[in-house]
Amino acid sequence: MGVSVGIDLGTTFSAVAYINPKTKHPEIIPNGEGSRITPSVIQFLDGEMIFGSEAEEAMAAGEPDCVATFKREMGNDDPYCYIDGVPYTSEQLSGFLLRHLKEEAEAALGDTIKDAVITVPAYFYSREREATINAAKAAGLKVKKIIDEPNAAAMAYGLEHWRENARILVYDLGGGTFDITLVVMGKDGQLSTVATRGNHKLGGRDWDARIEDILLERFEADTGLDLHEDSEAYAIVRGLSEGVKKQLSAMSTMRVAASFPGFGKSTVPISRQEFESGTSDLLEQTGALCQAVLDEAGLSTKDVTDVLLVGGSTRMPQVPAYLQKMFGKRPIAHVNPDEAVALGAAIQSSKETETYTSLSVQVIDGKKKTDMGSVGLGVRTAVKPAKKLSGVGVMTLRETTAHAMGVVAINDEGDRYYNEIIIPANHPRPVRAAKRFRFYTHPRSDNELDLYVLQGDSENPVDCQIPHKYVVSGIRHVKRGEIAGTVIRVQYSYDANGVIHIQARQEDDTKDLPVRQEPVPESTYRFGRPVASGEVTDGVGFLQAGERRDVVHKYKAVNFSNAEWIRFDRITYHPSGAEFNEPSVHVVANDEKIEFHGYNVSAMDEGVTYTIDGNDDFDIECEINTSTIQPHPGGHLYISLGIISANLTQDGGSIFLDGACVKTVGPRFTLRMSLTDGGKYEVYVNDVLAGSKTVSAADSIDVVFGFTHESHCCSILSHAYISDIKMLQSSGGSDEDESSETDTWDD
Ligand code: AMP
Repeated sequence: MGVSVGIDLGTTFSAVAYINPKTKHPEIIPNGEGSRITPSVIQFLDGEMIFGSEAEEAMAAGEPDCVATFKREMGNDDPYCYIDGVPYTSEQLSGFLLRHLKEEAEAALGDTIKDAVITVPAYFYSREREATINAAKAAGLKVKKIIDEPNAAAMAYGLEHWRENARILVYDLGGGTFDITLVVMGKDGQLSTVATRGNHKLGGRDWDARIEDILLERFEADTGLDLHEDSEAYAIVRGLSEGVKKQLSAMSTMRVAASFPGFGKSTVPISRQEFESGTSDLLEQTGALCQAVLDEAGLSTKDVTDVLLVGGSTRMPQVPAYLQKMFGKRPIAHVNPDEAVALGAAIQSSKETETYTSLSVQVIDGKKKTDMGSVGLGVRTAVKPAKKLSGVGVMTLRETTAHAMGVVAINDEGDRYYNEIIIPANHPRPVRAAKRFRFYTHPRSDNELDLYVLQGDSENPVDCQIPHKYVVSGIRHVKRGEIAGTVIRVQYSYDANGVIHIQARQEDDTKDLPVRQEPVPESTYRFGRPVASGEVTDGVGFLQAGERRDVVHKYKAVNFSNAEWIRFDRITYHPSGAEFNEPSVHVVANDEKIEFHGYNVSAMDEGVTYTIDGNDDFDIECEINTSTIQPHPGGHLYISLGIISANLTQDGGSIFLDGACVKTVGPRFTLRMSLTDGGKYEVYVNDVLAGSKTVSAADSIDVVFGFTHESHCCSILSHAYISDIKMLQSSGGSDEDESSETDTWDD
């Protein structure tokens, strides 16, 4: 048959629980040593792996090849450690541990494990959740669901203390992380998360560091040693700090002894009060996040009916004392923080999976007001008396998205990237939302669309997490005679596990386009900069050789993502052999501006081209200031708009039509080309018609913006700019190139 279990895969400890079929209540499954929790530590010894307390003891004794706290790097593809030269990622190590937990639980139950619910911190991003699922798969476990640790703890609590309409704040302070989650006990055993926040860089370790500071100061005063400069002595103090912290949870003063090389034994006093006053700012940080969650839910501190303590660091007396002051009630600590999460996961393991909902709230300025009505918070109804639920069967859990999901977009002004939120934080999951985008295809290349999905509330994309780069491929070129560009519908989903899924369809197709995941390129730092800045270094830019992709964004009718980047590597260096730190040549192109830079260049030929179908309706306009061609006279700016071309130097130059000069221009002028859908093609210089032609629908028109620099050898920067380029292509519709909501679809 097999048993369903719940697993708390913790940073410091792990635990496994199941629903006892006789009592219908969750129970911890003891490990092989009879312990209810297993330290999340692995020792590699003689080709074997040792787990749990034995590995933990080996590590404490300073034995090599022991690894712990690897959960902190979950989702990071870099190796967490090397054992005998072999790299292991956090995901692999977690897989080993999960396999061990599975085998021990199977031995204890005398049955196989059918599937498992595994818990993760609420703040875990999609990538960390995916890594947890992969680790479980590698361990031979079928993952029934991933649930958030605070929700699991609330379930374990709720089973014994169900009070309809109770609003429970789960305060989870672990070794390295802090999560705060508001859950509501609804009707018929429905437990719903309302809001969650966290700081995954705040935890017991920060309190340890403060103890370390106090001890270092005291030991330095006592010994006269400079412990900050002595790495061995420093390590001795650091090794003491966590233990001292834990002892201060039980006693109000103590003396700490240490033996330093070259000095001998030193003993210094420390009191809980000193420790507490040296860490009050850390507690206040947690308090601010509690307040943020309440604000999100539209509640005040007095509306919270229970404060539930989870995580080892809540054993510090300062935590309940601080919360009691803040909420006016004593926090609840009688759920064993080491076991509650596994017990809650076991409850969830007896449940079926949820079905998707479509986005049900409006997102305004990237924010939504929590949909309180649907979770019973709309009316502050009285809390009903406590009761013991008849069994786990009656309880259901509704979780929310911990992080907003957005995409990189460009603002109205076209000068800044921002995070356009599609699914807000704290929305019930699983959830889907779909958007439509106009995408301009090209007849002669792969039409692929890059999507940079973001997780986080910040408006600035670089402050958000990018789980993966998603590339939508197989987009058909939309042929002549049809409206320009094509509509791509993108569906963004958070599944029940909080993992992101991206799907895309073209036009009204009922089949998904292929979507692949690629590693996030390092160049995404550019999303934090102004769009038009000269941000490009070699090989990094909006466009790269052969690529015709871009982030999905709104507002521009046409952008250079569909333009072809031409880069000739005919670059020779200055005969002096001088070395420069600058890239020798680069071109920056974006929607409105192209910059050409050449440094120490004797010959180059760089540019972007855009091909227009002869049948299209098109308008290109640009401001040209040739005085920006600096400073060497050997550089030419070259612009070709199909029938007409311009060859320009610093002082201006000539406009040619079919090879003959038709106009001379000074350093500043406007150039405009328009193509009507009847095939009439006109070029204006300073708003005066310079030439026209009727093109047949079969002729496509190449538009080239290029910079050539021939035969001269200059050791100083040459550059040219074309700015205010407006390329407008009739879309046959009104606002279709702006992203807009559309219907979601089922898998
Ligand atoms: P967790 O990640 O929930 O297992 O919590 C681990 C953290 O709890 C570590 O930082 C421990 O130092 C801390 N911790 C465990 N027991 C105590 C205690 N009695 N007093 C203070 N901190 C503790």
